[in-house]
Amino acid sequence: MSISWPRLAHLRHVLGRRSLRGSASWMRLLSFSPVSWLCARQGNGAGSLAPGGTIFALSSGQGRCAIAVIRTSGPASGLALRSLTAAREPPPARSACLRLLRHPRSGEPLDRALVLWFPGPQSFTGEDCVELHVHGGSAVVSGVLQALGSVPGLRPAEAGEFTRRAFAHGKLSLAEVEGLADLIHAETEAQRRQALRQLDGELGQLCQDWVKTLNKALAHVEAYIDFGEDDNLEEGVLEQADRDVRALEAALRSHLWDARRGQRLRSGVHVVVTGPPNAGKSSLVNLLKPGTTRDVLETPVDLAGFPALLSDTAGLREGVGAAEQEGVRRARQRLEQADIILGVLDASDLASPSSCSFLNTVVAPLVTQSPDSSRQRLLLLLNKSDLLSTNASAMDTALPPHMLLSCRTGAGLDNLLQALKTELAVVCGDPFTGAPVLTRARHQHHLQGCLDALGHFQPDTDLALAAEALRQARRHLSHLTGGGGTEEILDLIFQDFCVGK
Ligand code: GDP
Repeated sequence: MSISWPRLAHLRHVLGRRSLRGSASWMRLLSFSPVSWLCARQGNGAGSLAPGGTIFALSSGQGRCAIAVIRTSGPASGLALRSLTAAREPPPARSACLRLLRHPRSGEPLDRALVLWFPGPQSFTGEDCVELHVHGGSAVVSGVLQALGSVPGLRPAEAGEFTRRAFAHGKLSLAEVEGLADLIHAETEAQRRQALRQLDGELGQLCQDWVKTLNKALAHVEAYIDFGEDDNLEEGVLEQADRDVRALEAALRSHLWDARRGQRLRSGVHVVVTGPPNAGKSSLVNLLKPGTTRDVLETPVDLAGFPALLSDTAGLREGVGAAEQEGVRRARQRLEQADIILGVLDASDLASPSSCSFLNTVVAPLVTQSPDSSRQRLLLLLNKSDLLSTNASAMDTALPPHMLLSCRTGAGLDNLLQALKTELAVVCGDPFTGAPVLTRARHQHHLQGCLDALGHFQPDTDLALAAEALRQARRHLSHLTGGGGTEEILDLIFQDFCVGK
């Protein structure tokens, strides 16, 4: 569709009128300002974080270290810096300077430190900020913190308060805040990579592209409402909007299809070790995570850079006693929840009744399942390969694809880790490539809400309803990046932070 320039200008004028007239919710959305939200909070003082003022905290880790970083944020930061350095002016902005820090009341020297002055809004939080890089001894740190506390207008920060201020001043979107929280908690390489991508704003960027598509479709529909009957618009305006919305639906669907993967990457892939008694299950768990004891239900482990929750289904043998039956029930339940199953057999005992029963009841159904992406993945391991004679591997042609392993000698472990890495990348999504993954149930919820709203976009039946469906869809996307966030959700997200972040 092409709309001539004068007509486009006229459209803008009319759309402006229409927005004021009929789209109060849209206007609310557009006029949402995190800063006014913060000011409103400062007014009523509600919420878990004490609002306002100038905050300070130790931002590096607790405990003795070479250098500790203490930060402040807020309007009295400059005063704090001048008070501690006994200077009239702060040092040049964003340059590290060596200064003697003194207690502002007693004048007692505290430390010779590197100080950095970040006048707002060019700072992490958007406010005036100071960083003090002091020697990491606990007496120095507590002395400087006490000194800061004595400066009028300064108070200790609460958990997540620096980041919350950065969000409030539009320095970070909510998705980026979540990325930052994940980065602080990242334990494996894949988690770190994924968190960095989210912190870089990839998810927010994707949402913005989707919002642009919705805005364009909405402009077309509203234009049609105003001009359609006068026959002032080119042919195909609605058809184009419909095509764009359907394409957007397809994109959202494929992201939702992937959503489980992002959550697995964040919270860990369930890897369950199963097999007949004495096959070597707990030996394998111990090989993957030394020191694991049988009574631990699930143990977190870094498998080839991916986060996994490893468990062993001891007790998958039928028994008569109530305790044994409960054990069997739990073992089966864990097996059903598994994303990846490591099936272990004793290679020197493949003909035994327990091996055959395991192959028939557990392995065969997994091997024959339909190859959709939600299926459980199986790696079949023939353990105790050290007990086999050298030409023994040829005997197993009737078995499903498998790998030889010896938990005793470690032979075959590298192959197993390589195969696991491949499976984990399928189950989690590869954070090194591809589209940004949705790591939280919250993302999934809003994407699904957006998709549901688009299901009501039927421009051939009711144009007013179709326009409302687009607005509703857009609202869900703005919630995802934090534009329309409610305080409860914000509180939950910021709880993930430590003091000083
Ligand atoms: P689970 O009942 O399946 O957990 O089996 P375990 O891990 O307790 O192992 C049963 C027995 O097999 C133990 O005596 C282990 O030392 C032994 N075992 C485990 N792996 C190997 C292996 O690779 N080679 C040999 N020769 N023995 C093994």
